[in-house]
Amino acid sequence: MTEERYLRQLRLLGRKGQEKLRGATVLVAGLGGLGSPVTLYLSAAGIGKLFLVDEGRLELSNLNRQVLYSVNDVGKFKALVAAERVRSLNPDVEVEPYVMNVQDERFEELVRRADVVVDCLDNWAGRLTLDKLTWIYSKPLVHGGIAEFYGQVTTVLKGVTHCLKCVLGITSGHRGEPPQVLGPTPGVIGAIQAAEVIKLVAGIGEPLFNKLLIMDLKRGEFTTLEVRGNPECECW
Ligand SMILES: [Zn+2]
Repeated sequence: MTEERYLRQLRLLGRKGQEKLRGATVLVAGLGGLGSPVTLYLSAAGIGKLFLVDEGRLELSNLNRQVLYSVNDVGKFKALVAAERVRSLNPDVEVEPYVMNVQDERFEELVRRADVVVDCLDNWAGRLTLDKLTWIYSKPLVHGGIAEFYGQVTTVLKGVTHCLKCVLGITSGHRGEPPQVLGPTPGVIGAIQAAEVIKLVAGIGEPLFNKLLIMDLKRGEFTTLEVRGNPECECW
């Protein structure tokens, strides 16, 4: 481990905390507006192993918010470009790119091998799959969601919180029109998700368990609500 690289965070995390980051495996599901900052900050912080999952190819219209990529990457698989970016940013990080959908049968094995799963998806059907699999394997799931100027973050973990489905009151996996998104919206929410992961792994601070952080960038307001989930839900 290159000590100098982590000099400005070592006293925050402690040497043990930094070693925990190095020993951790984090699965980033979705490599778009949220997955971009999540991947960059987790790599920079020294997470030992990253599974980067996205089935898509980069489009020009992604570049207003997906800060992992450049114009030369248009048409390429995001997972492969993202892995190269991680390697150039921090060679300490072992990175495994997967060009696949979270519904793929191979995805479950990645959840099983991960210590933390980060929801950077843009659809509810995929989120419900993440919710189900992280519940089966008792892995923390750091959820982020965005639209326009608005975003939210919460972290769910079996035994500590209710499941994502009932915390957020998700009733269907319906996928609507993709929303308009101002680039800084996923930038801020993704940065908060990365901080959640670092806290969970290093064992510092308080994760957003049973709390939903809501952001309104248009008014510059952040609110944190207590959330309890549905007592009738079978997750509890
Ligand atoms: Zn539930």
